[in-house]
Amino acid sequence: MSGFARAPRAMREAKPPHGQPCNNCGLCCHISQCKISVAMFGGGAVPCPALVKAGERYVCGIVTSLEERSDASLHATAAKIILGAGRGCDCRINGEPVDHEFNHAWDQWEEDNWTEIRCAHRLWKLRHDKDQGHF
Ligand code: SF4
Ligand code: SF4
Repeated sequence: MSGFARAPRAMREAKPPHGQPCNNCGLCCHISQCKISVAMFGGGAVPCPALVKAGERYVCGIVTSLEERSDASLHATAAKIILGAGRGCDCRINGEPVDHEFNHAWDQWEEDNWTEIRCAHRLWKLRHDKDQGHF
């Protein structure tokens, strides 16, 4: 059975189309890991152990924990940059149509904010696919 099929029905039904605003349905973190999750828990940790239910929605427990700490706000901000928080649903499942306009806007945002993105990855000791530099 696929990760999608194992996800709770309410979560599967709540997922918006690719490119629409993120509604914190939690599906992406239930069926896959982001690079922060892989760094923290290793590969194969699916659903991500950091996924936390908050009412009817889900949040990233790593981000929310860091946001609560006054000495870790930089890491929290960097994590949100790495995750693309607030930029829309970048998860596609079961061959759903690609929102090309969204992908283009995402690429453009990365281009316009490359220094910030690179700094965020380096703070977390992670590498962005487009980063050719040395650590
Ligand atoms: S990015 Fe998409 S799949 Fe992930 S929580 Fe947001 S709406 Fe759900
Ligand atoms: S670390 Fe957070 S954002 Fe990444 S997969 Fe886990 S819950 Fe989702």
